[in-house]
Amino acid sequence: MSHLKLASGLGRLGTESAFTVLARAGELAAQGRDIINLGIGQPDFRTPEHIVEAGVKALRDGHHGYTPANGIPALREAVAVDLGMRHGVDVDADCVVVVPGGKPTMFFAVLMFGEPGAEIMYPNPGFPIYESVIRYSGATPVPIALSEDKGFAFDADEVLAQITPATRLIIINSPANPTGGVTPKTEIDKLVAGLEDHPHVAILSDEIYSQMLYDGRDHVSLLQYPQIRDRLIVLDGWSKTYAMTGWRMGYAVWPKDLVGHATRLCINDHSCVNAASQYAGLAALTGPKDEVHAMVAEFDRRREVILSGLNALPGVRCADAAGAFYAFPNIEGTGLSSQEAQDRLLNEAGIAAIAGTSFGANGEGFLRFSYANSLENIERALDRFKTLLSS
Ligand code: PLP
Repeated sequence: MSHLKLASGLGRLGTESAFTVLARAGELAAQGRDIINLGIGQPDFRTPEHIVEAGVKALRDGHHGYTPANGIPALREAVAVDLGMRHGVDVDADCVVVVPGGKPTMFFAVLMFGEPGAEIMYPNPGFPIYESVIRYSGATPVPIALSEDKGFAFDADEVLAQITPATRLIIINSPANPTGGVTPKTEIDKLVAGLEDHPHVAILSDEIYSQMLYDGRDHVSLLQYPQIRDRLIVLDGWSKTYAMTGWRMGYAVWPKDLVGHATRLCINDHSCVNAASQYAGLAALTGPKDEVHAMVAEFDRRREVILSGLNALPGVRCADAAGAFYAFPNIEGTGLSSQEAQDRLLNEAGIAAIAGTSFGANGEGFLRFSYANSLENIERALDRFKTLLSS
């Protein structure tokens, strides 16, 4: 038995089950099982070649050292220009902080506002790390319930009604993981208008899927609302858009008053993102975008196949998923709980998918399928799921 006395916060830290399922799927595959991985949320494409080359060149050119903690200036400038082009907004490059992936920004934002007695709102079902780090900070997590009948968009009135004097931060995510839901502009307008009555509340808008929208939808960025800029943190990054999950490249736009705190957190945590990745990230922003567009077009083709395939299965129905690369079907009609379905799909059908409950209590009755896999594998998975349900 260990005599070590661990900090109590560790016991409150959650996890991201997608990594556990990925490991289990890997074990099964190593035993010779044919596993179709619709579990992990990462593009199945290679990072475009010109981006890889820029990373390699950076190493050859001697970029082996520390960079400024908040990111190399040219990269922060390129982020500001990119956001300006995509969202039609002015962004000060000094408010951009480059971090290793999307996750550090959510951790830093929650560390800035979370402590016992504070309340932080987060989407449920939602990306599991939000609730995990809120609990770790000692703050009270207040779920924003997302429902299938509203296409998993948040309801602004419901969010506003939950604000109390203890609310410090509201986390929103559109397009969303795990549901693929996209919140319409009308709800965002209403939320922002309502927040004027609550100047003590900060907003973290996780826009990491902002370039993965379908059916001609345009992304609505919270950056487009100048009235909340002084309390808005926008999280985005390279992982999904440029198929760069392993490079660990993300960024946030922070309000002027918080950017110094964010940079100090970088200095305390990781010093800076590795230099070669930053040069690769710069090439991603300034280079051609045709491969990004081709990836999104391919995701869209798969989306149509998986949505119609799931909706044709007995006991399964799947809401439209207008963004990201996830389908989040309701499986209540199959009589299986989310966890049972996850286990049986993996063990009996060789399909890695994630139980909806991994994304919060409101995910019971749902499964998450990532369609970042080939059309052929998606079709095979749908066939296997059908066989499982009829056995
Ligand atoms: N935010 C959301 C909504 C995500 O789905 C993910 C990854 O799955 C992240 C952030 C984290 O991205 P990264 O791998 O860049 O840390």
